[in-house]
Amino acid sequence: MTAALNETHDPSLKSWIAEANAEDAEFPVQNLPFGVFKPRAGKHTARVGVAIGDRVLDVSACGAAGLLPDASEAAAACASSSLNPLMALGPFHWSRLRSALSRLLRSGSELQSRVPADALVRAAECEMRLPAEIGDYSDFFASIHHATNVGRMFRPDSPLLDNYKYLPIAYHGRASSIVISETPLKRPIGQTKLASAEVPVVGPSRRLDYELELGVFIGTGNPLGDSIPLENAERHVFGLCLVNDWSARDIQTWEYQPLGPFLGKSFGTSVSPWIVTIEALAPFRVPRSLRAPGDPQPLPYLSSENDALHGGVDIAFEIELTTAKMRSEGHPPHRLARTSSRHLYWTIFQMIAHHTVNGCNLRTGDLIASGTLSGPEVDSFGSLLEATLNGTQPFTLPSGESRTFLEDGDEVIFRACCSRSGYRTIGFGECRGVIAPARDN
Ligand code: MN
Repeated sequence: MTAALNETHDPSLKSWIAEANAEDAEFPVQNLPFGVFKPRAGKHTARVGVAIGDRVLDVSACGAAGLLPDASEAAAACASSSLNPLMALGPFHWSRLRSALSRLLRSGSELQSRVPADALVRAAECEMRLPAEIGDYSDFFASIHHATNVGRMFRPDSPLLDNYKYLPIAYHGRASSIVISETPLKRPIGQTKLASAEVPVVGPSRRLDYELELGVFIGTGNPLGDSIPLENAERHVFGLCLVNDWSARDIQTWEYQPLGPFLGKSFGTSVSPWIVTIEALAPFRVPRSLRAPGDPQPLPYLSSENDALHGGVDIAFEIELTTAKMRSEGHPPHRLARTSSRHLYWTIFQMIAHHTVNGCNLRTGDLIASGTLSGPEVDSFGSLLEATLNGTQPFTLPSGESRTFLEDGDEVIFRACCSRSGYRTIGFGECRGVIAPARDN
């Protein structure tokens, strides 16, 4: 099953909120991403909102006012400080709610005058919270360019291991340290060992990096012992977001063998505040990337005609960096890379089918990340590890500063959008984080 196009995707729809109709608006009425917000003023508690233009709509307040007919159960689930109750309801209810929100927010809606004044808040006056209670987080390694680039640094003759083209590689990440965009990230302290040194030392990481990734929020899960077959995987996806899987390369290099990433990753992961629903992404579905001639075909549980034809989502990403000096001198953020989800060797649905093939249960609110989204060229690399060839090729910024890895005060900004001729462009907003100094003990 693939989410079908319907009237909510109609590119001619406009909203009565003028800012949503601007050509460069990331949140037009065709998008309607969900997040958890709290107005800074007043005593409001955090609850579920939908981004529209430069505003946030309080979904449960509109439901309580009778403005979301046929979606009252889903609207009531939005009176919560996390999206989990809405996510747990499943795709039938998500779609009903999207349709009701589209009808409420589009130009000409008869309900416009009945929207309570305090149910529409300027986004600039809101604080965003983590969108879900995330019980588990798994991080994949699904960009073949990233896997090859990184593999080549350690195994020049055979960068890809034998399993790569047979299964989507992943590790279990740490959910407790996932933070919302704009949360400063303290430089981690850990054990590192220079190749030239005989013994390791403990101290602040000196090779701190970002990883640009696509995040997938699980809506409904599966019982322990069951699996989610590939053809059903889409029904379990609530929506997608941006993820920064911050990585301390020096800690990672020393600790990762033989069991994989641990403290080099678990000190922090940032997510963007808005979750773009899988239904909103229906116009941007594409075939999964072609396998090179000679590559093995996926095993049957990772293979379906529908996934081959529609398993991809075409999303364009960009990475920007600003330093403290650049900000004080008034330089705009400097673009480091542009890349695309088209570089994924495995679809997000294959990741879900594989994750559960052994009977592992996914749960509502779980986060899955794609792995670093690198393309084939240096200006499409999703990490500094790749862009600076393991720290050997520094680059220069407009302030005259040079970088191999991140310094204190550096801010990393991810953005993404989906465009296709004949459809309204929709955006993901931003995922950003500034590096704070390591603790001093
Ligand atoms: Mn990663």
